[in-house]
Amino acid sequence: MVKILDGKKLSSELAQKLKKIIEKLNIKPKLVIIQVGDNARSMNYIKRKIIFAETIGALIEHKRFPENISKQTLITSIRRFNADKSAHGIIVQLPLPKHIDTKEVAGAVDHKKDVDGFKGGFVPATARGILTILDKYKIKIAGKKAVMVGRSEFVGKPIALALLNREATVTICHKRTRDLAIEIKDADILVIAAGHPKLIKSGHVNKNQVIIDVGINILKDRKVTGDVDFKNVSKVVKAISPVPGGVGPMTIASLFQNL
Ligand code: NAD
Repeated sequence: MVKILDGKKLSSELAQKLKKIIEKLNIKPKLVIIQVGDNARSMNYIKRKIIFAETIGALIEHKRFPENISKQTLITSIRRFNADKSAHGIIVQLPLPKHIDTKEVAGAVDHKKDVDGFKGGFVPATARGILTILDKYKIKIAGKKAVMVGRSEFVGKPIALALLNREATVTICHKRTRDLAIEIKDADILVIAAGHPKLIKSGHVNKNQVIIDVGINILKDRKVTGDVDFKNVSKVVKAISPVPGGVGPMTIASLFQNL
């Protein structure tokens, strides 16, 4: 029987733990969210972060800038929050408009407040969420063969590095990988962050594999789906995280753990 890796349940459990920790503090931790433009997806993610913060008793300062903001103004604002003692964490909601250098702007956040983990101090939220899921379900990482599909700077690479740091043997695949099916065939842990619905089908996987689906795709009928053909793949593999209800809620919970 396939094990469904329930990120939603784990996220609620973490919320209760964080709430108790915050109740004992004599401050309320504050997360500053920097948003540029009004990308509908970003608005949705921010809304979820605000709801999570309310649940655990943390504060959010949502700072919005117009689409045509200059990189320099953005960096100046981030530096102001770096110096502001009431701001404990700062995140730049991605994606940023094309005219802005994401690395430079995200890199302006003080490393002590960089709860998204861009500068390597904190484990990035998505990667931390995945590690927590694997640990909670007692899935061994050390010595296992992990395959990461997706090599983006802010998602694929940090997840691959986090698995490597936990002593998995990691292969990173991407759009130019010659034969994806061959690369993923022997994976013990397969993580997919490609942004491509049904990229992984039942013929790609086997009964010994653990599948972590990071993808978030919004279909024409507004349904949210991951990168894995969940219906058919879940009939084959050992364990799988669903979308929605898998990595997404764990990413948010992990962000607040970092905060
Ligand atoms: P991206 O477009 O920057 O990167 C996608 C990566 O996938 C690239 O490296 C590309 O080479 C690879 N790829 C694309 N098509 C492929 C194919 N057919 N075969 C092999 N590799 C392929 O996207 P991103 O920002 O890394 O996000 C990836 C997905 O993860 C998106 O669906 C995004 O919404 C989702 N995401 C989810 C969370 C979460 O918390 N669940 C967090 C961040 C991103």
